[in-house]
Amino acid sequence: APWTASVLTIFPEAFPGILGLSLAGRALERGIWRLEVSDIRDFALDRHRSVDDSPFGGGAGMVMRPDVVDAALAGVAERPGPLVYLSPRGRLLDQELVRELAAGPGVRLLCGRYEGVDERVLEARGVAEVSVGDYVLSGGEVAAQVLLDAVVRLLPGVMGNAESPAEESFERGLLEYPQYTRPALWQGRAVPEALVSGHHARVRQWRRERAEELTRQRRPDLWSRYQQAAGSGRESKD
Ligand code: SAM
Repeated sequence: APWTASVLTIFPEAFPGILGLSLAGRALERGIWRLEVSDIRDFALDRHRSVDDSPFGGGAGMVMRPDVVDAALAGVAERPGPLVYLSPRGRLLDQELVRELAAGPGVRLLCGRYEGVDERVLEARGVAEVSVGDYVLSGGEVAAQVLLDAVVRLLPGVMGNAESPAEESFERGLLEYPQYTRPALWQGRAVPEALVSGHHARVRQWRRERAEELTRQRRPDLWSRYQQAAGSGRESKD
């Protein structure tokens, strides 16, 4: 069976969106992954199809009702993959989690709106929470698309060899080295000499040094983890 994304949202028309185009879109057409979208509103219990109500304890905004969300989740109970609520309180999405999800059978994504979802349904269903960054979006749909875009490109057969992820940012714990293409001289700026030298070893060394330098300068958090990993790698070889 193809890797399957089951998305629960009150904006089903937002999908596949950008995921229907380009790399992910072609993979979707070719059946490498499958996208199933459910409208949470279809599980509303009243005539007005309401999915939200005001928060207990007062305050601004609305909260998604646990009974409605639970019914929507029951609808994907048999679908493959972990149950994930996109939420700014969640585990930060990183390439490691992306790889984990790509290695599994799929994912079920609950997109929140308003002030979020009643806590009890998250507890009752054992929902994991994933955040795409320390900022607040107005809904989980864009976050779901970020997660799916990152996962789908890792599925076998989606990227050609030419677009291999092996050297990309984060794959080895480093930011990526700078990239250049033609023309070799542009507005008085030349491409770094090592890259046009034709010596593979020099190219490799230049790229590794630039990747390390960029990571050290811009992301001290990644840099110290990278150094620890390199250190423990050396120890285990001794
Ligand atoms: N009241 C919530 C809070 O302060 O944590 C924010 C709710 S937000 C306006 C509405 C929905 O957008 C959330 O339920 C969630 O599904 C989604 N969302 C917002 N920011 C997100 C983020 N950084 N990562 C993932 N989902 C996010």
